[in-house]
Order: sequence, then C-alpha cells, then structure tokens
Amino acid sequence: MNWTMTAVDRAVYRDEIAPWLPARILDFHVHVNLPEHTGPIAPERIASNWAMEVGTAQPWEGLRATYASLFPDREVACVAFGTVYRETYTDANNAYVLAGSAETANAAYALMCTRPEWHADKVAQGLAQGFAGIKPYPDFVPEGDGEVRVFDFLPHEHLRALDDAAGILMLHLPRAGRIGDPDNVREVLEIRQRYPRIKMVIAHVGRAYCLPTAQRGLPDLARNSGISFDISANLNSDVFRYALETVGPDRLLFGSDLPITLLRGVREHVGEKYINYVSAPYSWNTNRKSPEEEARYTFYLYEEIRALIRAIRQAGLGKDAAARIMHGNGARLLGIRAGSD
Ligand SMILES: [Zn+2]
Repeated sequence: MNWTMTAVDRAVYRDEIAPWLPARILDFHVHVNLPEHTGPIAPERIASNWAMEVGTAQPWEGLRATYASLFPDREVACVAFGTVYRETYTDANNAYVLAGSAETANAAYALMCTRPEWHADKVAQGLAQGFAGIKPYPDFVPEGDGEVRVFDFLPHEHLRALDDAAGILMLHLPRAGRIGDPDNVREVLEIRQRYPRIKMVIAHVGRAYCLPTAQRGLPDLARNSGISFDISANLNSDVFRYALETVGPDRLLFGSDLPITLLRGVREHVGEKYINYVSAPYSWNTNRKSPEEEARYTFYLYEEIRALIRAIRQAGLGKDAAARIMHGNGARLLGIRAGSD
C-alpha cells in the first residue's frame, strides 16, 4: 500500500495518541510477507472479502519503516506471522517470518501459520525451531467458507504439540456469529481445559466489531483467566469499554493487523454491522463521505488507538492501563521483562 504521513496524521498522533503511549510498544498481531508468498486469488474470492483487495505484502523492512513513521519516538516490538489466505505459500512465508524474527533489528517473535492437514510433527518442529506459537486460520480449511468448527482448522494433534511447547495460540474465531456463537465459546473453553499450558489469544476481541456481538460471548470467555484478547483491527470504543469492564485491562493486548490498517477512514457500527468508510478507490468503496470529511481521515490503526484511549477514559482508567495494553500484558505472555514503562 502506498501511503505517506499527512498533517492530519501527525496532529492526531502528537495531540491524541502519543501522550497515552508507553515508551515501548508491543504489537501482538501483525502480518509479514513478500508479494511472491501469495499466489493468484480468484476474483470471486476477492469479491467475498473486502480485505483481500486491500491486503498487500508487508516485508520486514517495510514494517520497520511503518512503525518508525507511525510511532516516531517509540520502540516497537512485535508478534508476527504470515498471510492467512489459502492462496498463500505457507511454508515459504513461514520461513521468511522465522528468519526475520531472528534479526535483532526486527524485535520480533514469530508465530507459525499452520495448515490443518499438516502432521503434528511439522508443528512441533516449527516450535522447536523458534516459533513462539501458532496462527491457524479458518480460511485454511480447503473449500471451507468460514462456517467451520475451530477443530476443523486447528486439529487436536496440533493443540497437543502446542501444549507441550507451552506456546501461544493466536485464534481467529470462525462462524458468522463470531464470539457470540455458543459453539465457538464452547470450543475455546474446551481448548483451555484440555491444553492448559497453551497461552491463548483471541484475535480482534473475538471479531466482536460491534457491541451486541461482544455482549453475547465475551463474558463467558472473560471469566477464564487464561484467555487474552487482542484488539487489532477493531475500531469500536464501545466494544473496548465493554472489554475493559468484563475482561479488565490486564488481558487485552494491542495489535495492529498491519498492513490492512494503513487504510484511511472511519468505521461506523450499526447494530451488528460495521460500515467501512475509506478514501481509497477500491471496487467496494461506493459509499463515500464528503470530501471535507475524507480530508480528515487518518489511518485505521490510529482510529483503533483513538477508540482504545476513549474507552480507557470512559472506564475511568489511566495511562497505566494503556501501558499494560500497549506493552506490558503482551510482554508478560511472552515471558519477557515488562520493563519500567
Ligand atoms: Zn490479522
């Protein structure tokens, strides 16, 4: 994605975001890949998923440069993994992610994207080679349409290997009902019970981009203290505030979901639907705001952090909560020193 920092971006960062950020940031959800790691994607697949038309490659150097621009005076570490489309050449992408995580300059931990058909030995080997955990994904189920069970894309043998390594599980919930689907809740709790050493992170607050979705499933999972939630690609301060009240500030993790969140725009939440307003010429971008409003757009990633700050304030919490979410909680999960910030 081609982009530059605008005066609007700089002002948002300086005036609203920077004052709330700790000196060190840990981005717990970011994708790293080269263009050649993904094969051709059929037009009907692109038409079925708005993100596919946006999502482009993000090499390690690009990610470092993006962090330096977006968080100019902060140190940013990350938990990174490859692209999760079935068209991705997962072995090649995984190798690239792992190699990059070994470079000090990237300050990164790698998660291994896993295909459900793989033998568990392959997963165990990856964990032994340095992956801190795994990132399975519903779209990796061949011919699946997202209405799959968790165990369809995350077999028990893989979970056993991950449990043996006490690794991280970055779990993207399937099914249209998201975290509000009782089958998802049940399967997540089953994993917690059967594989207690796994460090479980539910991506995107369980894909609860809208409050009613969060209200349906979050309390059931919040009660289990072994489950953390990343807030990546979620722009809803009502959801964040609800998460702060139910989960608390100690099990929420900042994640960027870069590069997709370099999109500029706003998101509106109506009932259980979200509407993306952006300024870029994507085929699905037919519903636009006025030029004056578009001129005020900043990155989705900044909007995510803005929403988090709003929620923290509304919940009556302060900068220490922001510091935990932006760095400390993730550091604790990775077993690294949270530092003095
Ligand atoms: Zn993601």
